[in-house]
Amino acid sequence: MIKTYKVKLLPNNKQRTKLFECASVARWAYNFALATQQENYKNGGKFLNDCELRKRLTQLKKQKEYTWLNNYSNNITKQAIKDACIAYKNFFEGRANFPKFKLKKKSKPSFYQDTISTGQKYKNINKTSKIKKLEKRQKRLQKRLSKKYELNKIQMNGGEYRYRKTNNIKKLEFLVLKMRRRLKNIRHNYIHQITTSLVKAKPEYVVMENLNTYGMLKNKRLSKSIQEQLFYEFKRQMEYKCALNDIKFILADTFYPSSKTCSRCGALKNKLSLSERTFICDECGHEIDRDLNASINLKNYGKSIA
Ligand SMILES: [Zn+2]
Repeated sequence: MIKTYKVKLLPNNKQRTKLFECASVARWAYNFALATQQENYKNGGKFLNDCELRKRLTQLKKQKEYTWLNNYSNNITKQAIKDACIAYKNFFEGRANFPKFKLKKKSKPSFYQDTISTGQKYKNINKTSKIKKLEKRQKRLQKRLSKKYELNKIQMNGGEYRYRKTNNIKKLEFLVLKMRRRLKNIRHNYIHQITTSLVKAKPEYVVMENLNTYGMLKNKRLSKSIQEQLFYEFKRQMEYKCALNDIKFILADTFYPSSKTCSRCGALKNKLSLSERTFICDECGHEIDRDLNASINLKNYGKSIA
């Protein structure tokens, strides 16, 4: 059984600098946790758990001189604080000596990171030329059909109209139905491809946002009912495929502001129009692709529940 993989990274200069920076942040957080424990103990306080320490760090980040911490993932400081707490507890309960502060020269540069987003996006199938062509053809057929109905209507004595179904109309109606089915099949098939590839990545959990009318404005070309249908089809497939593969399926609260929240500092934006494809945080200045920002938020949302 393979339990772990070791991967050697060959970073370029820029990436190297960034990696070393992350390791420095981890070292800083470890020392911060130890110093806080020490200070707290001196003042007669009890052992602080990592949750409490992380809360204090969050407060610290709001101060100007510590805002630089916002440039690094929470995962780095989180794990470093956890490590420091374990080391401190071992000392506190007599199992080990007092943990050493990490010095830049002596300590091995390392950090923990669990956020790996591929940032992959799936393209909107409704914008492909094949679908566009078929939709055009469908529209033409529907127009022809309604014209035929007009031609064959008969006015009754009471002034009402009666519509006669000629063989030609029946034929056209059949063609329209066939076209509609074909479009549906293409779309559903595409959704199957996406949902399968998502499940194959073996995630711990999947978070989906519930249908919101706001998001539906994204596609003006499709009617509301078709968008709804496609959304529910996507949800249906995702749900059963997750169940089949023992993956937790989470549906986010309808009012959860996934798009308007900054995925880095958690600040909430008042307004974010649909044309703004890049999210720029008013608080910390974080700049990120709008959809990626929303999906990171949903991931964290899932984590808080899972
Ligand atoms: Zn922010």
